[in-house]
Amino acid sequence: MDIILLGPPGAGKGTQAQRLVEHHGMLQLSTGDMLRETRKADTELGHKVADIMDSGGLVSDEIVSAMIDAKLADMGPETGAIFDGYPRTAAQADQLDDILARHGRKLDHVIELEVNEEALVERITGRFTCANCGAGYHDVFKQPATPGVCDKCGSTEFKRRPDDNEETVRKRMQEYRGKTAPILPGYEQRGIVSRVDGMASIEDVTHAIDSILTR
Ligand code: AMP
Repeated sequence: MDIILLGPPGAGKGTQAQRLVEHHGMLQLSTGDMLRETRKADTELGHKVADIMDSGGLVSDEIVSAMIDAKLADMGPETGAIFDGYPRTAAQADQLDDILARHGRKLDHVIELEVNEEALVERITGRFTCANCGAGYHDVFKQPATPGVCDKCGSTEFKRRPDDNEETVRKRMQEYRGKTAPILPGYEQRGIVSRVDGMASIEDVTHAIDSILTR
């Protein structure tokens, strides 16, 4: 089963994708994570990607679609893909259709996480992760049980995303509204869109997604 998780930055796509990986053995394909790897490299592409990400803009369709194509080429047909943060433009949605067809796959569900944008700014600007294992935390909503120590691996090193500041977040939301939300009607015409209340608790959102996948 291949699905898209759609929603503005901070809607919980990454959190829910990780839970689908744990519960259903699917694979999370996050273009944001792939680009965070790319930007680490001291190359022309790495610097270009870093500049775009820090501005809250979008990296070129060709670059992200090529990344997705390469990941799918390495995946067996029995493993379901969760597209997290991709597609983000109409061109990427078209490219994804071509890529899936080439790999003999098809899209089963597009799940939109509906959220209140103002609440998202608080959600995003407070989030941080364990630098060692990637476990996610939040200044207000989810502190580690022992302050300063990761619940999962015991590490005391944490990090924040450079693009999780208010100015960049607002630009990312503007990009979502202007370029990503308009791809939904095309998927609606195919009858594969489901909506979930992304402001509900993490557990409740997971539950709602599970019932969509098993119906
Ligand atoms: P994310 O982790 O999904 O919030 O993505 C972080 C940043 O990476 C975005 O603000 C964009 O700059 C870039 N990015 C991630 N996915 C895409 C995509 N599908 N198309 C273009 N840019 C992307």
